Amino acid sequence: MSLTLHGIGVSKGIAIGKVYILEHEQIEIIEYCVPKPHIDLEIKRFQQALDLARKQLQKIRDHTPKLRTVDIAAFIEAHIMMLEDSMLSTAPIELIRKFQCNAEWALQKQCDSVVQVFAEMEDPYLSARKTDVQQVVARVQRILRGHTDTPVEMASEHFVNAIVVAEDLSPADTVLMQHYGILAFVTEYGGATSHTAILARSLGIPAIVSLPRACSYIQPHDQLVIDGSLGVVVVAPSEEISHYYRSRQREQKRQTAALGKLKSSPVVTLDGTPITLQVNIEFPEDMEVVNRVGGEGIGLYRTEFLFMNRDQPPTEEEHLDAYLRVIKAIKGGPVTIRTFDLGADKPIGKRHEGPLATNPALSLRAIRLCLKELKLFKPQLRAILRASAHGQVRLLIPMVSGLQEILQVRKLIAEIQEELTQRSLPFNPNLPIGIMVEVPAIAVCTDLFAPQVDFLSIGTNDLIQYTLALDRVDGTVNYLYDPLHPAVLRLIKMSVEGANHANKPISLCGEMASDSRYVRLLLGLGLRAFSVHPQAFLEIKQTINTSDLTGLSELTNKLMKTVSATETLSIIERFDHLAKVVI
Ligand code: PEP
Ligand code: MG
Repeated sequence: MSLTLHGIGVSKGIAIGKVYILEHEQIEIIEYCVPKPHIDLEIKRFQQALDLARKQLQKIRDHTPKLRTVDIAAFIEAHIMMLEDSMLSTAPIELIRKFQCNAEWALQKQCDSVVQVFAEMEDPYLSARKTDVQQVVARVQRILRGHTDTPVEMASEHFVNAIVVAEDLSPADTVLMQHYGILAFVTEYGGATSHTAILARSLGIPAIVSLPRACSYIQPHDQLVIDGSLGVVVVAPSEEISHYYRSRQREQKRQTAALGKLKSSPVVTLDGTPITLQVNIEFPEDMEVVNRVGGEGIGLYRTEFLFMNRDQPPTEEEHLDAYLRVIKAIKGGPVTIRTFDLGADKPIGKRHEGPLATNPALSLRAIRLCLKELKLFKPQLRAILRASAHGQVRLLIPMVSGLQEILQVRKLIAEIQEELTQRSLPFNPNLPIGIMVEVPAIAVCTDLFAPQVDFLSIGTNDLIQYTLALDRVDGTVNYLYDPLHPAVLRLIKMSVEGANHANKPISLCGEMASDSRYVRLLLGLGLRAFSVHPQAFLEIKQTINTSDLTGLSELTNKLMKTVSATETLSIIERFDHLAKVVI
């Protein structure tokens, strides 16, 4: 009999195949006393294990696929750096000397205290790093116990065309398993923002995380179906179910091939209204996929990723180098550079400085942080201005909540323009300056703020978080995250009307625009410009090109007056019926 389980789908796609259960390795750590004359030898044994672990990770790093949307090698590099950090390389040696104990026990003792520190951190990103420490330590423990290969390396031949089910997976394991040919994976732990989930999306592996007791419910060699979009796992599917998913898989392949043909077609609705469709990026490397799908403009470049996985903030030259790479790759198209949106779930560098805020999402984040940390902000502003001499650069300010912030940025820009003139460095004196509409206060008063700027971009990810008073990274309140809440829809409509009234362009760059179910609704709300993630670009183009604006506003108005979830769903389905052509 088949069994259906639900987890969090973090990387879309359907996979059908045999299970391989990657057993969680129990490394038994025994404590024993090392006689004084043998202490140096024990330390040497520990250092050799560290050395071998480093070599293993370096080998994996050097074999990671290049030109992916995420710097995969950097994740492995982070594990190598942990291994080299004194918390794991020196502290255990002190414990060996102090307690005259064996290396395994000293390392475990040290690992437990480091993990405890990470676990107590309120920041979800930092507290999730305790898993990285445990994975690095497990590798060294394994070597100390005489096993040189990890469970993944030992099971390499089982991965070909397998769906791997595991308690948890490290980024290094994920890279290796992809190399060995897995179809998909399911884990008991992990969240959508874990490095492993990011990697799965980047590597194109369908994946489901946070499926409690998956390793107990699923048996070795079971047949499995994975739907990575919905987070559904079907164990031992009947012939009918397998048949259904196989046909969906074929349909997806057909759709992907059909979408490819849209690459060079214009973005225009069935009634002839042209729509601007741009792309969101996080790294200059993303430009490879942007070019592949035919993206001609960057509507949102999230520059905060330049600050991550490093100790020192990027220099002006490093900012400039990244921006010039994007400008070059977009071949004359617009590049909207958003000043860094750090704080809340995206801490500065590796460690959070200063006291932890009670409500980080309402605290020193984005433009608030930029204006407080001018030594971080000014090099970025200089680089954006310098980059503006080389292409159609626009500057976008995140999380604006009042006029003062816009005026302060303008003042800083004027000062930097003076400086650059003195340094004889070219820049665009009319650099367009825009704001994100993601704080409800701005959405309600867009008519007042639009005249102060050159363009606006609605960030629904945050607009929803702040309107519905729920933390967007907190799984316990995720069920309340509702893009179709009438309050959210009314705020979007008010923003569009406010911008139109001031004759200023407005776009929407939140995840809502990358979800084809909502695009017709957004068109009905009056939006005529979107920025979406590159993987969604062609699908959204197809949805727009098969939409007729006639009748959309009537349905939209109904939705803005609906509080019943069932009624909302039935209205959303009717939007699709308005599509006249299906590719
Ligand atoms: C948003 O809030 O919708 C947005 C695009 O910004 P980010 O997701 O980077 O906060
Ligand atoms: Mg935002």
